[in-house]
Amino acid sequence: MSIAPLRVRFAPSPTGYLHVGGARTALFNWLLARRHGGTFVLRIEDTDMERSSEAMVQGILDGMRWLGMTWDEGPDVGGPHAPYFQSQRLDRYRAAAAQLVASGHAYYDYRTAAPRVKTSDGEDVPESFGPKSYDETSVTLRADEVATREAAGMPRAVRFRVPTEGRTTFVDAVHGEIGFDNSSLEDFVVLRSDGYPTYHLSVVVDDMDMRITQVIRGDDHISNTPKQVLLYEALGVPVPGFAHVPLILGADKKRLSKRHGATSVMEYSTQGIVPEAMVNFLALLGWSPGDDQELFSADDLVERFDLEGISGGNAVFNPDKLEWMNNQHIMQLPDDVLIAHVRPWLERAELWRTGFEGEQRVWLTRALALLRPRAKRLGDIPEGLGPLMRPVAFDAAAAAKHLPPEMSEPLDALAARLADLAPFDPTTIEQAVRGTAEARGVKAGAFMQAVRVSLTGRTVSPGLFETIELLGRDESLARIRGGARQAQSS
Ligand code: GLU
Repeated sequence: MSIAPLRVRFAPSPTGYLHVGGARTALFNWLLARRHGGTFVLRIEDTDMERSSEAMVQGILDGMRWLGMTWDEGPDVGGPHAPYFQSQRLDRYRAAAAQLVASGHAYYDYRTAAPRVKTSDGEDVPESFGPKSYDETSVTLRADEVATREAAGMPRAVRFRVPTEGRTTFVDAVHGEIGFDNSSLEDFVVLRSDGYPTYHLSVVVDDMDMRITQVIRGDDHISNTPKQVLLYEALGVPVPGFAHVPLILGADKKRLSKRHGATSVMEYSTQGIVPEAMVNFLALLGWSPGDDQELFSADDLVERFDLEGISGGNAVFNPDKLEWMNNQHIMQLPDDVLIAHVRPWLERAELWRTGFEGEQRVWLTRALALLRPRAKRLGDIPEGLGPLMRPVAFDAAAAAKHLPPEMSEPLDALAARLADLAPFDPTTIEQAVRGTAEARGVKAGAFMQAVRVSLTGRTVSPGLFETIELLGRDESLARIRGGARQAQSS
């Protein structure tokens, strides 16, 4: 597939945060642009002033940045690009509406916008309820009647004139050819009487001005597309390609919503999902590489992504799969990337040390190597690291069960053995632990649990011998002796 120069856009309305469906749409656009060396445009569709808010815009930008979906254009070219905002382009939509009226593709509708007047009892009503009727459009009025109304600045909407016959069709990259009988489409408003464009007009004018070649968006826009195709044709510009991507459903096969848990992508960040996993997961919601590969970096996706892989069937959001993928990515991320992701988590848990940027970095990297396999979420890392960095705090139940008095002496014996163990590595440590258990006549499994609780205060930890190596000889000895004392006192 070669489309050059490919230009795509993501056009969210800032009436909510960046939700999973929107992020997935953005990602498909971004991937396609990156795949083909095209341009990815971010356009905030904020013409619905009442429902749009600055906080929502910020939320969308945060989500885009978190997922690494950089956009290529915007008003402040040269610096970090701002996205395009429709609210800054209102004149352009008004001009396009005027052009459509001039070419006969649209007409003024004075009905929709009869001026409002006060009745004798002070009620605010459309004037059409009064003696004079405004049940008229520029289609039925004579030219001079229209001119008088325009000169008087009478409010009116601009309505697109849909042909009464024929069919409007388009080829959808996901669904194939889709057609609508024009008779099923009503004449639709493109500019409201308050001078604001409707979605159909602003989206088409922008996609035209921004020279968008492929419109990739949610399935819910299929029924809007014939109206937009008619607008492109009326404005005399080529119709872009369309790809409508399937809906995302919850496990219960209902449209994904709050009921299914988080819907804003930033909530997943808060829950300790790494952006690499989120990108991987979102990409597979409705797209498949054609084989059974499931783990992709963003670069892999850029290499593999194409519209052909988008399925027409709805995609199901499986939170367990996301968690599995998150663990897989946590295991594979380069050290520096993982450390950057986990740093705020360590800071919140008061486990971050300035030395982690210097001489203690190697230690942190080794600790992470032990913790990665068990980390489903970033929060599992401070959870596992805390016991290694803080003085041992015995979990009462764990100590009662695994540090009975008869473990005291074997623990001390192990400490003595580790004191001059050389080399001090997991293999020799394992031999020392097993050898001590055998020599003292205690079961290896029970002894290992006693050692574990001595080291961490808990029954769960990363690999025991690796943990001893990581803690180092002195710290391990001190902890094992502390376990011996705890055992004696119980
Ligand atoms: N602002 C529209 C939405 O958020 C964009 C639709 C489109 O991509 O054309 O649904």
